[in-house]
Amino acid sequence: MLQPALSLVLEALKEIRESQEKTFRVSRATLNRLLESRRHQNVPDIAAKAASLGQVRDRVCVCTKCPHLARSRTQTVFGVGNPDAELMFVGEAPGADEDARGEPFVGRAGQLLTRIIETMGLSRDEVYIANILKCRPDMPKGSPGNRPPTPQEMQTCIGYLIEQIEIIQPRVMVALGATAVEGLLGARGVMRELRGKWHSYHDTPLMITYHPSYLLRNQSLGEKRKVWEDMMAVLEKLDRPISERQRNYFL
Ligand code: URA
Repeated sequence: MLQPALSLVLEALKEIRESQEKTFRVSRATLNRLLESRRHQNVPDIAAKAASLGQVRDRVCVCTKCPHLARSRTQTVFGVGNPDAELMFVGEAPGADEDARGEPFVGRAGQLLTRIIETMGLSRDEVYIANILKCRPDMPKGSPGNRPPTPQEMQTCIGYLIEQIEIIQPRVMVALGATAVEGLLGARGVMRELRGKWHSYHDTPLMITYHPSYLLRNQSLGEKRKVWEDMMAVLEKLDRPISERQRNYFL
């Protein structure tokens, strides 16, 4: 995880001061070099996380723990984004679009999630997005739409998500909808009561909010504002600035 620039500078100055007898002086160029070298120390960390995620992905790709899903899927849908993300979104399961593309949240609900992330001042590349289930829940031949995962399917697959979380170690997580809550916290609740509050997933702050597909079904400004307030709470938890314009969205 990247440290704030100021603490890096202060740490570097302290180290140098302690190693010098005379009053310490440093040019901007030297400071920049110090900062640069510190920044590169994060690179192996990210590379190690990416490699560990790659190993889990390899196992997921060939998983047959749910034989019916292994038979029906086009491909598994592992996760996408920054292996060192501070913020991780957890959804339910791939739908038809995600099954075809091999990437989570790329259909209509996904496009809305991308807009929410961008409105937060972030990008899909900066955060990490994954689902409780890595396979699309199968549907009877020819029937349209998607179905939610069964408790059995969730129990079988959740280990992979747990591994992803343990590798990424996000500072904050967001559960999108009741299925994500059930997968992460093991209990089904009323979204109206769960959302908008801080919960905890093994000591990681967890914000619960509505699934973007709920917002597609319910286009009222009030429901959009609720999700937006949840996302502003997330930004605050991450010490990210919120502009006046952002504060007034959906009012
Ligand atoms: N809904 C989800 O929960 N996950 C996806 O990846 C797409 C839609």
